Formats: sequence, C-alpha cells, structure tokens
Amino acid sequence: MERKEKYVYQEDQTQIDNPLLVETGFPPFDRVAPEHIVPAIEHILRQANARLEALEQNLSPTWAGLLQPLEQLDIPFEYSWGVVSHLMGVKNSDELRKAHSQVLADIVQFGLRIKQSPAIYQGLLSIRDGDAWHKLDEAQQRIIEQKIRAAKHAGVGLSGEAKERFNAIAKELSQLHTDFSNHVLDATKAFEFIITDIKQTEGWPKTLRQIAAHSWNAVNKEGPKASPEHGPWRITLDYPSYVPFMEHHRNRTQREQVYRAFILRASSGELDNSGLIARILTLRKEEAVLLGHENYADLTLESKMAPDVAAVQKMFAELVQAARKPAMADLDALRQLAEASGQVEPLAHWDVPFWAERLREQRFEFTDEQLRPYFPLHRVIDGLFSLCTRLFGVTFEQADGQASVWHEDVQFYRVKNGNGETMAWFYLDPYSRPAEKRGGAWMDSCLSRRYIDGELRHPVVHLCCNGTPPVDGRPSLMSFGEVTTLFHEFGHGLQGMLTTVDCSDAAGIKGIEWDAVEIASQFMENWCYHKPTLIGMTTHFETGEPLPDSLFDKICAARTFRAGSMMMRQLEFGITDMMLHTEFDPKGDTTVFDVHQQIAQDLNPLPPLPESRFLCSFSHIFAGGYAAGYYSYKWSEVLSADAFAAFEEAGLENDAAIAALGRRYRHTILSCGGGRNPMKVFQDFRGRSPSTEALLRHSGLRHPAEIK
Ligand code: ZN
Repeated sequence: MERKEKYVYQEDQTQIDNPLLVETGFPPFDRVAPEHIVPAIEHILRQANARLEALEQNLSPTWAGLLQPLEQLDIPFEYSWGVVSHLMGVKNSDELRKAHSQVLADIVQFGLRIKQSPAIYQGLLSIRDGDAWHKLDEAQQRIIEQKIRAAKHAGVGLSGEAKERFNAIAKELSQLHTDFSNHVLDATKAFEFIITDIKQTEGWPKTLRQIAAHSWNAVNKEGPKASPEHGPWRITLDYPSYVPFMEHHRNRTQREQVYRAFILRASSGELDNSGLIARILTLRKEEAVLLGHENYADLTLESKMAPDVAAVQKMFAELVQAARKPAMADLDALRQLAEASGQVEPLAHWDVPFWAERLREQRFEFTDEQLRPYFPLHRVIDGLFSLCTRLFGVTFEQADGQASVWHEDVQFYRVKNGNGETMAWFYLDPYSRPAEKRGGAWMDSCLSRRYIDGELRHPVVHLCCNGTPPVDGRPSLMSFGEVTTLFHEFGHGLQGMLTTVDCSDAAGIKGIEWDAVEIASQFMENWCYHKPTLIGMTTHFETGEPLPDSLFDKICAARTFRAGSMMMRQLEFGITDMMLHTEFDPKGDTTVFDVHQQIAQDLNPLPPLPESRFLCSFSHIFAGGYAAGYYSYKWSEVLSADAFAAFEEAGLENDAAIAALGRRYRHTILSCGGGRNPMKVFQDFRGRSPSTEALLRHSGLRHPAEIK
C-alpha cells in the first residue's frame, strides 16, 4: 500500500521530472533510475490505451487515418520501454528487475490488444482491398500486410467456439513452453560431477579449472574454498563446463558418464519433457488448422523469407549431399587418431570431442592468448570503420558528449554519408561488466528512423560487447572470436543505421523476416578472413608488429576444420524440426524419438544411442522461437555467403570494383530494411536467386574447381 501511495504522489510529478517520459532527442540514459519505471510505464499505457480507443472508434481506413496514428503510438514506448529493456542488459540490478517485471505483463497485453483489435483489423483490410492501395509504396504495403498477418496469427479472424479454442491453445502453449524450458534448466542444474583427484585433471586447460572450481564454490558456500589449482572441481552440464570437459578430460569412463547424463536431460521423473513434446506438437498442429493451414510449418513460413517447405527441403538436400562424405572422412580421421594413440575400444560419442580437439591441436594449434595482443580494440574499430568507408562510402566520427550514456566507458559515434550529412548515430558499450551487464554481444535499435512533425529523425542503434577492459596501461585486447562477433553485430548495426525507409515499422532491422535478418551480420564476418582487411587492423600492442602470416593461415584453416561434421549436425536438427512440424502425426504410433532416430541414422556417420533423448532438451524448438525455423541458421548463411561471393567474383583486391559493388550492397541489402521482400532485395543485389555454392566452398566442402 505504501508503495502505491508513493507512486500516486509521483504520478503528478511524472510529466515534469520523469526521464522516461521525454519524446525528443537522445534518451537521457544518465538520469534514468529504477523508481522511474513503474510510474512512467503506467502513465504511458494509460495514455496509449486512451489513444487506441479513440482511434478504434473513429478511424478512417487510410494511411494517414490509421497507420500514422499507430506509428505515433509507438514513440513514447521507444523512449521508455526501449530504454528500460536496454538497461536490463547493460545496467541490471535487483531494483531494475523488480520494476521491469511489475509492468512486463501489461506491456505484453497492450501489444496483444492492438493485434487483436477487430476495428483495426477491419481498417487494415479496407485499405488493402480499397482503391488507394496501389498508391501506397512498397514499404507501406508490406507494413499493412504484415500487420494483417500478425492479427490473423493472433486469432482476430476467428469467432465463437473457434476463437475460444484458439485462446485456450495459446494460453496452454505459452505455459508448456515455459515448463519445457524450466525442466531443461532444472535438469541441467540437478547434475554435478565432482573431481577431487588432481591426477584426473591432467591436460585440462586453465579456463576449465577456473570454471569448475568456481562452480564448486558457488554451491558450497560454507567451509574451505576450491581453487583452480587444487580443486575440488565441479563439472556441470552447462556448455561452458560440459564442452571443454568432453574435449579435454582423459578418463574415458567418466566422459561416458557425463555424456549420458547430457543426452538424457529432462527425460525422466518430474522433469520429463517427453509428454510435453507430444502435447506441444498436438496443440501447434491444431492451432495451425484453426488458422487455415495444413500444419505448423506452413503457418510459420507464411511470415518468413523462405517461400515454402519445399524450398527449405531443397536447401537441406543440397547441403546434405555436399557434407555427407566429408563428415564420414572427419570421423575416419578421428578413428585413426584414437587407434594410433592406443584406444582399443571402438570410437564412441564421448570420444568425438576429445579426439577432435587432439586433431585440431596437431594440425593448427593456436590459442586466444597468442592472438589477443595483435587485436587492440581501438585498432580493430579503426579497421572496421575503414572497411565500411571503402565498401559503403560512409564515415564515422566520435561524438562523445553529444548524448548522455549509462556508463563512462560507453562511446558515442556519428555516421555520415559521402557528403558529410548525418545518417545515423550509435552507442558502443565495449567492455564486460559482469555485475550488471549480460554476457555475449548484441545489437539493438535505440530510436528508429522516422519523420516526426515533418522532420527526419535519424536512426540510433546500440552495439554491446563483452571485451576485456584496459588494465594497467594495457589496451583492451580482443580474441579472434570477439573480433568476428564485433563484425557480426556491426553488420546488424549497419542495416539499422543505413536504412532509407521512412516508415518506422519497416526501417532498419524492423519488419525483416526472421530467416533473413542474419544475412547482413554474417556477411560482415566474411571480411575477417580476408587477409589484407584482417592483417590491416592488427598491431601487436607492445611490438607494433602486424599479425604474422603463419597465424593468419591457421585462423583460415580452423574455419573449415570438421566443417562437414558441423554442417551435418545442424542439418540433423533442422530436418528433424521440419519433419516434426509437417508430416509427423502427434497422434500416430511413431514417437518423436523414432523420427529423430530415423533421420539421425541416415545423416549422422555415428548414429545416436538408441536411448538418446536429445529432443527433451531441444529448447530452441520446444521453448524458443525456432519452431519450424531451425533451418533459418543455414538459410541466412547460404545468402550471406552468396552475397560475399559477389565481392570475390569482382576481385577482392580490385578497389574500384569493390567500391562499386559495396555501394550496390548498401543501396539494396542495407538500405531497404523491412520495406521490400528480402528475396527481391537479394536479387536486386545479386542479379539472380541465391545459390548454396558459396557457403559450401567457404566451408571447404566443395573445391572451387568443381564449380566452374
Ligand atoms: Zn546476429
């Protein structure tokens, strides 16, 4: 009660002093505090609901009468909810999380309210079927079509019993997805494997010792502490612990024990996901049929770039054909190495990561620590900027101080086109801050490009990384993985910043189909394997030397190491996902595990154990957004590799040709955003439909000579 009164008091003040209620300029990040969140969001939602009701009551079915007001509705959310979501990632705290969760449900509800509004849906249909439809430009038409589709998928077209059933399914599914994910998390958490004998840790890398000792301390708060050097060490089924353990632990029996626990996660007892899988697939199918589709894949592909299931199957078939033999050869190489090293037992699943790692060490060992000194962050950023200037004709200048930031390490930049005109802005938050910032790297839109009162507002984006901060006069030094990740995120960033679409719902990364959104990001990663580009941005922070050729060659060789096996693994997941959401009958006699076994028997040169319950922890498709969409990873990889191949064909050392092609890439893939069908955009750039050849060649799965 007390708190409520406090907010009532603040409510009167919000208009003047709540930094989440500004609607112009750059967001005042430095002034936002957790206590601003609830009053601001409540205020904005109240206002937005009132505006929405007014709109529903007398909307005119035109762009200006419906779509513009809807777009306006979004602005206060950019400055409030957008800022809060961003701070959750970079300045997290208990107070922030509490305030965030207090308003989250209302925010979600509001989004749903718009999608399910019959008045708005009817208005959208009237525009689409009206005479003025052909006067709208392509981006406007796409926005309207996407909104109609989203409304349909939210059940707006249903009535009576069908609608009730649809809502019940949606509710149950959302609970099942959460339960599935929680079971996987709990099952992962429930397992531990403790090692106390230091001899058993022979061959472990330093990081595994650190992770395992840290993990032991995290659950044994009382008593003596574990140390990385002397243990005890606690191995868990979390990737950062599980993967290096399987790669480096010499005791084969213990590897088997941990492996078996891994593939049986969430498959028995209270945390058993088997029943949930069957129920999820049944409900998804029913939902699809209610909405007029044959199956769930058919429903989800309606809003993707891939035209239909057949197109996805065609891609699968081409990649399988190319990767099958190399994957078998990969496995033979491991068998030989294991045998030569004295292993008498036949090669099993728990041997694969171990011997693969030994083979990698034999062939081209290098470590992050060897590479880091050559990649000081500021040099990498300079190299990235100069590449973008060369390709796209845009320039970057530091603009620190022109916008407020949430942490003193955050940098601010202005992006200009060739005439020196401002195009966009971005924040770069480069370093790791474990106490308040989430791991990994990401790009997000801060403010999208739009016209406000007739004036163009330039897009602003966030780029967040987790690099090592500078210490003791040493600059921030990046691992090669961090370099490619920065390029990846910057690729997303460029699509956000160089957009020329004026309607905010299709500007930048907004409105781009799920399976097309990684094209621009993965495209940029390719440049990290282009020798002059990569070597050009290296300087040893002490000696000033560039990266030696021998290390560059190893980086390139590592890129294609076991590429056939990696590809087949992704295909096994993608094909299983697609089969379960198309032909599979959840009510039939065949189980989901049979389906997976059948597919894996065909694709995997080392078929899974019959008792494998891998699907019980496949959260991507049973809890996340990748249902009937796991193929998206490969789909966008095919397209980004093919886009890069255009540059290879033009001649990577031919500056004039690269500049011309780079401008075309900018004016198609980077500028169109969600305003044009991505297949058309790709064809605008490439002059033809996509081909799998470039991805296969880059992965070392087909020799260039075979293509010609
Ligand atoms: Zn990405």
